[in-house]
Amino acid sequence: MTEDFICFIWKFRQFSQKDLKTIYSEPVEIITPGIYNKDAGPDFSDVKVRINNTLWAGNAEVHIQSSDWERHKHGQDEAYNNVVLHIVYEHDKSVLRNDGTEPPTLELKSYIIPGIEKRYHMLMENLSWIPCEKQMGQVDEIYIGNWLSRMLIERLEEKSSGIFALVKECKGSWDDAFYIQIARNFGLKVNALPFELLARSLPQQILGKHKNSPLQTEALLFGQAGLLNEEQQDVYTSLLTKEYHFLKKKYSLKPIDSYLWKFLRLRPQNFPTLRIAQFSALILKSTRLFSQILEIKETKKIADLFKGLRPNPYWDNHYRLGKVSTGVSPQLGQEAINNILINTVAVMIFSYGKYIDDENLMRRAVDILENLPSETNHITKRFNEIGVACGNADRSQALLQLKKSWCDKKNCLFCAVGAKIINSD
Ligand code: SF4
Repeated sequence: MTEDFICFIWKFRQFSQKDLKTIYSEPVEIITPGIYNKDAGPDFSDVKVRINNTLWAGNAEVHIQSSDWERHKHGQDEAYNNVVLHIVYEHDKSVLRNDGTEPPTLELKSYIIPGIEKRYHMLMENLSWIPCEKQMGQVDEIYIGNWLSRMLIERLEEKSSGIFALVKECKGSWDDAFYIQIARNFGLKVNALPFELLARSLPQQILGKHKNSPLQTEALLFGQAGLLNEEQQDVYTSLLTKEYHFLKKKYSLKPIDSYLWKFLRLRPQNFPTLRIAQFSALILKSTRLFSQILEIKETKKIADLFKGLRPNPYWDNHYRLGKVSTGVSPQLGQEAINNILINTVAVMIFSYGKYIDDENLMRRAVDILENLPSETNHITKRFNEIGVACGNADRSQALLQLKKSWCDKKNCLFCAVGAKIINSD
């Protein structure tokens, strides 16, 4: 038995409300169970109950045993004077509020709907990939769909907090924040950090001054990435190195450490060198990309900005500097473009919409996700296997949020899917 379980029982009224009585046999009628509060203070606020024909409005506190009230020192805390109902699984001791009065106490033990506790334990003690692995596929799609819509907004809002911090760091410039964010995205998970450090080491205002010169743009990026070393020189790399030495001095630049870049176990298509070349092509297209993207209404047209990126012809037969390869497709693939739209474009548009309080922009971010195919990763694959379809990117993003922030933390009691499973006979 846990307090969370009692809170769940109270919140979803999973007990017989007929002949409900306090420990002193006063009739209790619940008008509203209130709002669950996970932070400090009483467990529920805005509770309305009628006790012995008197309507009470205030807070409710939940405990396994009524003596927990004293263990938690609520009797010494004025914040608990407004507790209008003390909800306990078992009443073992009368307790007092700080003002010397006794809170009305409801002992739930004998009212709880039979079977609920067993289903709760079965769910919480399950050691599968996620606790409801065996049941989730049977839950009505309407519950899952509604819950996942909430998960998607929760994920976007969480990501917005990080973006707001980044914009602050960039002294309020959303274009600069976008530049850093999209650089991270070009690095995928493996090289996100060095890509971010590269962008931070090279303000896009410097790149902007050279945006008419593909050679200088690549020289700045590869030089700052620390990837122009002496051993791998061919004609093109020598040219880049020469340009970089000049520009490095001109702008007093300091490159990042080359050892940060990871090539191991990556498909050549994802080598950071080719990614930097693609990033360079993006920079040559525009250094105020975010402002440009905000003007575009259709997802397809935003995707076209990335589809047309053509790195320098050197990359037609190179994955790395100084090493000739065959079969190279130098342009960004569709999967990479979708990844950028999901993880940078939609997130930045949502954050900006939230920042300027524009619901249309927030809606547009969700539209982008709804119009892109689901991501394929081990989490979406597992959800598919247990009978939960991933649909489009809005849904795969929501499932990632559900897994990370709810299933892994066993927050099943407060998840709509968990509530449905525990409540169903
Ligand atoms: S949090 Fe919800 S979806 Fe996740 S395991 Fe628990 S009940 Fe299932």
